[in-house]
Amino acid sequence: MWWHKSIQSLKGVGAKTAYSLARLKIHTIGDLLSYFPRQDQYLDFRRIHRLADLTPGATQLFSAAVREAREKRSGRGKSYAYLLLDDGSGRQAEVYWFGGQRYRLRQVRPGSWYLFRGKVQKGRTAAWMIADAEIEQAERAAGLLPVYPLTEGLTQTAMRKLVKQALALAEEAGVFETLPADLLGRFAFCNRRQAFHDLHFPADYDALADAKRRLVFEELFLLQGALLMNRRLQVEQVQGVRHGHSGELLRQVYAHLPFSLTPDQQQAVVEIFCDMEQPKPMYRLLQGDVGSGKTVVAALALAKAKESGYQGCLMAPTEILANQHFHTLSGFLSPCGVKIALLTGSTPAAVRKKILAQLAEGIIDVLIGTHALLQETVVFQQLSLVITDEQHRFGVRQRAMLAQKGELAPDCLIMTATPIPRTMAITVYGDLDVSSIKHLPPGRKPITTLVYRSSRRGEVYAGVVRQAGQGRQAYVVCPMIEEQDGFDLATVEGLYEELSNGYLAGLKCAVLHGKMKQADKDAVMKAFCANEIQVLLATTVIEVGVNVPNASLMIVEGAERFGLAQLHQLRGRIGRGEYASYCVLISDSDGEIASQRLAYMRDISDGFLLAEKDLELRGPGELFGTRQHGLPDMRLADLFRDGAVLRAAREAANELLVQGRDAELRHAIAAQFDKRFQTLFPV
Ligand code: ADP
Ligand code: MG
Repeated sequence: MWWHKSIQSLKGVGAKTAYSLARLKIHTIGDLLSYFPRQDQYLDFRRIHRLADLTPGATQLFSAAVREAREKRSGRGKSYAYLLLDDGSGRQAEVYWFGGQRYRLRQVRPGSWYLFRGKVQKGRTAAWMIADAEIEQAERAAGLLPVYPLTEGLTQTAMRKLVKQALALAEEAGVFETLPADLLGRFAFCNRRQAFHDLHFPADYDALADAKRRLVFEELFLLQGALLMNRRLQVEQVQGVRHGHSGELLRQVYAHLPFSLTPDQQQAVVEIFCDMEQPKPMYRLLQGDVGSGKTVVAALALAKAKESGYQGCLMAPTEILANQHFHTLSGFLSPCGVKIALLTGSTPAAVRKKILAQLAEGIIDVLIGTHALLQETVVFQQLSLVITDEQHRFGVRQRAMLAQKGELAPDCLIMTATPIPRTMAITVYGDLDVSSIKHLPPGRKPITTLVYRSSRRGEVYAGVVRQAGQGRQAYVVCPMIEEQDGFDLATVEGLYEELSNGYLAGLKCAVLHGKMKQADKDAVMKAFCANEIQVLLATTVIEVGVNVPNASLMIVEGAERFGLAQLHQLRGRIGRGEYASYCVLISDSDGEIASQRLAYMRDISDGFLLAEKDLELRGPGELFGTRQHGLPDMRLADLFRDGAVLRAAREAANELLVQGRDAELRHAIAAQFDKRFQTLFPV
């Protein structure tokens, strides 16, 4: 079928163009049609401005002659491509492109007129300054013209021509319709061929809106359909383990707990136990803010597996976390005779061998570990419970790999401290049941959050020295700057040099980052836990889970570089003990979004609310957390904006399944051809 044919079968596409297209992940004609224009950036020839009439701050279309085109050097010695534009309206414009875009100069001839599109800014001279303008060599069109995100070797004109060829094929041979006829009728959607046409070359904004409405629905419908079918596969068609009712062992574990469970924890335990006692496999998410006490809930579930004569495992995303879980869970379970072991990438071969043998014999009841648990050599005698912590780091597929380690499908519990807004929950976790721990255990002191400029670092670190004098400990986190190959350690090491010889001279400081050897990391963490280190300078490796109640200060350098969810996680490292805790966010950024983000951090402590805010701050099209959660990226849908469509799409997909029309849905998902939705089908 033409849809699957290589892009090279289009006229004018040779190896070179195909190579450029491949960089945009366009390999087939179908890929090309599914490569959507930048939304809200269509060229509208009814609105071409004169240079004198441009409005600063807005992206606009204007036409002007090229006066000068050459390469220039900035004060810092970086070269850039430069154009001087004039249209006789009394104002000129300077356009520049940094970063190896010399080819821009070859796209224009001095003296000729071109159409440009770009965001206009006031310069230091009278001329406008425009960075990264697009040069439009387009013919004037009757309707709107698409603007695509491009890469070197492609032009908007060439791209438009190719899309037109593909649309002509669609016109001739038709396009597979993914939505059942009754849905098209009910929602008054245009057909798929029309939608593709109007998304690329709409006659007007109404046609564009109609096309978008349909395609957004389709995207969400297929995603929800995939999730719902997946759930059915996992839950309804698979034989799971039926755990017995709780007995003596659980009574003992409860009796040994150093605290009593909060109502939210109790509720979560009831829900989990109820699932575990069913013959259907459990597929449940346990979400609760940092420090809400998920670990003890996990401990009780693991005890229940043991009590029923089975084994359980818990997988954590980092060794630090796996270690910590091992210690915490040992504390809860070992005194009651549950045998726990730890298996990570750095477990010595001999120990590993022994663990594997005992695991296969059923001597070990609970295995804690990292990705190492996924290896084929890890064989359980009778696995009945799989818990993953912070699963967004694992993804759907790895979850499924673990689940396959049991003879019968084991119960799955996924713990996450990355709260997501309710609208998102049904999408991201559309195939899971959810238990939530909403309230923190009693007795927590609120954390004071401050946002400071770096000119006040002296004060901040004086505070650290003062607190350390009273026996407290502190984290100092700095951003990890990603370079092309690996990352620049100079940031955290450099900070160590600076602080340990400056503000923090005399305190015991140490460095922790992801590229250190495991043994070194462990040694540092151990020393920090034992209060032999007073200040830990780290990258975000400490972001999740680490629990040192005596640490009461969290300093974040370059705080504008972190996302809200990340900052919230970092802040969750403190306020875990009986001491008043402070989180200081240091930032000199004046960016609007960054400032707003820091202000939210200062004013809001509820992780769920922060997640909502995070979503608001992100531009449309960028999805909160879906990639982290192992779901495919949406091309058009925006889960924040399209919440209502999402619910309608889910309902429609569910209806189809209830009516036994699985085949239609399956067919439609398969017809997406791209591999995006396949990750949802682990088997
Ligand atoms: P998280 O949900 O972030 O994994 P943890 O399970 O690490 O949270 O719990 C955070 C802290 O709260 C731990 O020190 C734990 O012992 C304590 N804790 C958990 N539940 C309770 C409770 N019901 N009462 C008092 N303290 C609790
Ligand atoms: Mg935890």
